Amino acid sequence: MNVPELFGSSVFNRQVMQDKLPREIYKSLLKTIDEGAPLDMSVANVVANAMKDWAVEKGATHFTHWFQPMTGITAEKHDSFITPTKDGKVIMDFSGKELVVGEPDASSFPSGGVRATFEARGYTAWDPTSFAFVKDGTLYIPTAFFSYSGEVLDKKTPLLKSMAALNKQALRILRLFGNTSAKQVYSTVGAEQEYFLIDKKMYEARKDIIFTGRTLFGAKPPKGQELEDHYFGAIKTRVSAYMKDLDEELWKMGILAKTKHNEVAPCQHELAPVFTSTNVASDQNQLVMETMKKVAERHGLYCLLHEKPFAGINGSGKHNNWSMSTDTGLNLLDPGSTPAENGQFMLFLAAVIKAVNLHQDLLRLSVASAGNDHRLGANEAPPAIVSVFLGEELEQVLESLEKGVKYSGKGKKTMKLGVDTLPELPKDTTDRNRTSPFAFTGNKFEFRMVGSSFSLAGPNIIVNTIVADVLKEFADRLEKAIDFNTALHDLVVDTIRENKRILFNGNNYSAQWQEEAKKRGLLNLKNAAEALPHFADKKNIELFERNGVFTAREVETRTDILLENYSKILTIEALTMSEMAKKDIFPAINEYITALCETVKDKKSAVSVINCAGEEKLIRKLSDGNESLFAKAEELDELLLQTKEIDASEKLAVFFAEKVIPVMRELRICADDMELIAAKKYWPFPTYGDILFSV
Ligand code: ADP
Ligand code: MG
Repeated sequence: MNVPELFGSSVFNRQVMQDKLPREIYKSLLKTIDEGAPLDMSVANVVANAMKDWAVEKGATHFTHWFQPMTGITAEKHDSFITPTKDGKVIMDFSGKELVVGEPDASSFPSGGVRATFEARGYTAWDPTSFAFVKDGTLYIPTAFFSYSGEVLDKKTPLLKSMAALNKQALRILRLFGNTSAKQVYSTVGAEQEYFLIDKKMYEARKDIIFTGRTLFGAKPPKGQELEDHYFGAIKTRVSAYMKDLDEELWKMGILAKTKHNEVAPCQHELAPVFTSTNVASDQNQLVMETMKKVAERHGLYCLLHEKPFAGINGSGKHNNWSMSTDTGLNLLDPGSTPAENGQFMLFLAAVIKAVNLHQDLLRLSVASAGNDHRLGANEAPPAIVSVFLGEELEQVLESLEKGVKYSGKGKKTMKLGVDTLPELPKDTTDRNRTSPFAFTGNKFEFRMVGSSFSLAGPNIIVNTIVADVLKEFADRLEKAIDFNTALHDLVVDTIRENKRILFNGNNYSAQWQEEAKKRGLLNLKNAAEALPHFADKKNIELFERNGVFTAREVETRTDILLENYSKILTIEALTMSEMAKKDIFPAINEYITALCETVKDKKSAVSVINCAGEEKLIRKLSDGNESLFAKAEELDELLLQTKEIDASEKLAVFFAEKVIPVMRELRICADDMELIAAKKYWPFPTYGDILFSV
């Protein structure tokens, strides 16, 4: 396999554009891509035609405006290129207008009431900053999705807006440092994607996985992840074939799949791409998730992207490595080596610290979902409390800056920002704190709370916007400064002083941290029902409006969509549980009990055998267990009926979190306890042991 040749072979990238487009058109398109210049329809026509010819060569017959509605996954509607001719034949045709705008019949996507029924139409608009590509005979055109009145209905548009806000403010800062060469600042993301692979047959035999993406029942198997023998372990042949296939598919689509390894839990794995611009990373991560599932089919496997497919073993996350970069390739979170670079680094670092401290609520809710509630705070992922890890060295530097005392490291002097050079900061990975939700890792931050099934857009809209907002405030202050270096120094010192409660280097999983965080006044929003409503807090609406990311109405409707989604997921889970309990487990246990009774009868009628203590004990236990199971299932049904009476999305979500989930938990215990004592042949679906060690 020639990887360089394969890489991006299905993508209409810069190279292809340059090859296929007339020079002037190419230059004009680049202006749109790199500087957001408006695209002339005459240019669009030429681009569309070239794109179509190229796509047809690659076997495409259709095109689709590929968009990201509020469902968190992508949507597509395919139109063929065919246009009838007078002689009853067809030609392959694709116009600039078709490239630039689309009008899917999109009335059934969640909009939280933004689209009134009289204007059900949604529009899609080409996002030229993310390359078009060919997949399965279709030309995919990444697009934004909005309503007739211009209200945003998707995840891509606000992400682009948040990037624009960040660009604007970061450039102001760079100019203050005398940087005149950078034309653009964009945020970068590299997302480490965790996933589970199980045998397809196991999937097919489990209604819960089919309907909800996770197991709702399942006793702990004799072996889980306690031996830690899976993490970075040798990859099994079948999985290895899968990963190879996956890499190839992703490379074709220009996705820089780089690292792959086994994760902590049995049958858990990870794929990390090389980082890229956030918008592209977000599009590509959607493709990664989709391709993971598709390729699994080909290998008789099933890919689980749920945050917590199995109780008792680790769930899956998506570490969101984030930084800011200029178009000239300068990473703004790289400490650098000269005093000016160091000063600039410290300013951007301070901005992130302040942003996280001021907007813990937003970061927390950007990763809140029914699925991720199982991870956050469960000692396998960061807690629900947001804090920042900087590492010992950097914290010492900050402390000495703040107190104006000598830095205890190598230089041993009092540092003045913008004048002195920072001591060398360690970049190695040994110093990493893997329990921190928001950790500085040498030249980027790693936001570790993101769930494995999340769109990258949500969390990054938040990170971009909150950092942009602080940079705005910093730029306002510094632009007025008379002595820049002194003002910079004071700004950083003030910022550290005012926001240091968010810094935490210790073990985030410990109980002491919960106590300590409370003393520091940090937020601890335990679940999605508690976290999501904060989206529409006054502070947040003002923040989004100030930065041109969301309107108040968009925030309110989105809050509703997220809360409703949470309740819908839990409804499906509860219904599935009840059904499995009543239709599968209950009758299966009864069958086993009947068989046991038969045995007792037979044994007793045989003259020589009178001792049936084991059977009798089992019969009693199973019989009691099954009664409890049935009662719990009925209790759950009753609660679900009650949910129908609750209208307000916030109240409903809280009802699920506080009333429904505890009963689901109890119902599960009834089943899991019986699974442990029931004969294998009666248990109605594969056990954890079967599933986890099936590949
Ligand atoms: P680890 O598992 O130790 O966190 P990985 O190598 O698996 O490390 O993942 C690190 C991720 O961070 C990769 O996706 C990498 O491309 C990404 N990354 C590196 N530099 C940056 C940056 N400047 N901005 C965003 N992401 C980055
Ligand atoms: Mg990581």
